[in-house]
Amino acid sequence: MKKLLFALLYYSGATKFAAWWNRSRIIFLCYHGVTKSSTPLQHDPKGLHVNHERFAKQLAYLRKRYNIVPLDEYLAAAAAHRKLPNYSLVVTFDDGFRNFLTAAAPLLAENNIPATVFLITDHTGSQNGDRRSTEWAPEDDLRYLSWNEARELSDKYDVEFGSHTCSHSRLLTLSPIETERELLDSFKDLVANLNLTRPSLSYPKGEYSEMLAADARKLGYACAVTTDRGINEPNHDRFTLGRTLIGNHDDEASFAVRVSGLRWWMVCVASALGLRKAAARHTVEPSATAQARRLQITD
Ligand SMILES: [Zn+2]
Repeated sequence: MKKLLFALLYYSGATKFAAWWNRSRIIFLCYHGVTKSSTPLQHDPKGLHVNHERFAKQLAYLRKRYNIVPLDEYLAAAAAHRKLPNYSLVVTFDDGFRNFLTAAAPLLAENNIPATVFLITDHTGSQNGDRRSTEWAPEDDLRYLSWNEARELSDKYDVEFGSHTCSHSRLLTLSPIETERELLDSFKDLVANLNLTRPSLSYPKGEYSEMLAADARKLGYACAVTTDRGINEPNHDRFTLGRTLIGNHDDEASFAVRVSGLRWWMVCVASALGLRKAAARHTVEPSATAQARRLQITD
């Protein structure tokens, strides 16, 4: 039923109208992995790893309609109050699966599309036995990039790296010491291993609070991304940037609906009509105890 509705919206031109309406806003997309597996992945029921042929079609769609900018260009423009061209879009990947190297990066390069990959730095540091081959293998959908591979990607492709924390723990459930380790140690690892000065951050599972956003800012991150709606005003707060999740279940119509921002309108309408729970936002306001756990970070 949903697929049918998406197809109707796509073929009727409604997605084109929504994209035009949102043309001055910056769209952020959130991928996880790209797989060359021809059969559905048992370990990935949510379809986080997009089939490479479907991914190639999505990139062709984006290249035709959007001005795809690196995250740092978006940040530089925002800092200088400089307007990016209409239909600007940023591509990001969470988790740092090895299939980014063997399946996603070559397709991104073919289409001249820059991307940012958020690494879970404990995994990056533990993948020492680099497989060497850059041909995709099924294990790449489960393994993570190593630091050597991340460096190779930085040298060879238009790829930036950021932190997805050290261990991908849900930050809002952690003690102050654990939270500090997650944010600070992953920041330091990125600086030490990839020679970055100001990495960006992706909150695990998109969960954040105002307090966490303030902590990320104080620690020196350039920005932080969530999985709230992926349409950002040019002057959107840099530490709560929204992203639209894209998965393997998104066919051409569903992809167009999500990228255009129309999916978000549908969620808002359904919420207003009481057809579904209030539009999901992953902001969790800190409880009284969480307030007391606030990190003691000095400027
Ligand atoms: Zn993640």
